[in-house]
Parts: sequence; C-alpha cells; structure tokens
Amino acid sequence: KVAKILVSACLMGEKVRYDGNDNLLQHPLMQRWQQEQRLLMICPEVAGGLSVPRAPAEQIGTRIITCDGADVTTAFQRGAWRAQQLAQQQGVVMAILKARSPSCGVGQIYDGSFSRRLIADDGVTAAALRQLGIAVFSELQLDAAAAWWQRQSLVAQ
Ligand code: SF4
Repeated sequence: KVAKILVSACLMGEKVRYDGNDNLLQHPLMQRWQQEQRLLMICPEVAGGLSVPRAPAEQIGTRIITCDGADVTTAFQRGAWRAQQLAQQQGVVMAILKARSPSCGVGQIYDGSFSRRLIADDGVTAAALRQLGIAVFSELQLDAAAAWWQRQSLVAQ
C-alpha cells in the first residue's frame, strides 16, 4: 500500500472555507503526489458537522469560538477525530494543511481577537495528527515537506 498524504480539502480546490471559497494550491509537487494517488483530502470543520458558509472561528484559550460568540469546540474536536481516523485507516504519514486555520494551522494560528494577530500554536486537527506521529506541514512549507518526503523514501529503500 502506498504511503498517503492527508491534505486540507480547501487546498485541493474544494469550496469548503468558512466564506465558501477555496485555497487551491497548484504546485508540481502536489500534482506529482496526486498522480501517484497519495493524496487524501478532508475538511475537518465540515467533517465535524459545520456548514458552508459558516461564521469564522478562532481559538480562545482551550475553546474555539466564532466571531458571533458561539462555542464550536465540539465540532472542531469531532473533525480532528475524523481526520485521525482517516489517517490511521489509510496509512497517512504526512499532512499538508492550510496555514493559520483554527483547524488546520501548523505552528501558527490566530490569537482569538479576530484581528489577524498570530500566536504560536497548532490548529485542532494539526495537533491531533501530530499526536499520531504524522509529519505535519502547511502549504507554505512545501520545501520542508519535500525534503522530509525525500528522506523517508531513502529510509524506506
Ligand atoms: Fe480548509 Fe481546514 Fe478550513 Fe476546511 S478546516 S476550510 S480544510 S483550512
């Protein structure tokens, strides 16, 4: 079974963002991995039961709160759990996730003030995948992802 790569669905052109748009990432690496049938996509927020469009949400302490003040932590946790399940069932070893999202953000997310200020933390799903030992990168870190992938391939030979 080929090693799989989990990808944020919005990076694959799915219109699942809170505002109904996508974040299509066109890159030769993604095309190659797609041709090798390695890419599995998920939108954790939709998988967790949220709709498109939806109110934007940010992490405040240990909760995820929308700009209207609704607590959507449970949906975010359910989505992260679904991503973990998919990853475990399908042999996912690496993930390429949308930067700065409260679900998918890698190493940096918004600070809960809805003013585009960043803090150092993972999104809920990124953290959950990291817990499983999956190598997690954002779409802004594709060079690092490629280097990691290359090292894994060498080790696997
Ligand atoms: Fe994209 Fe992740 Fe947000 Fe879904 S939850 S729209 S996959 S960044």
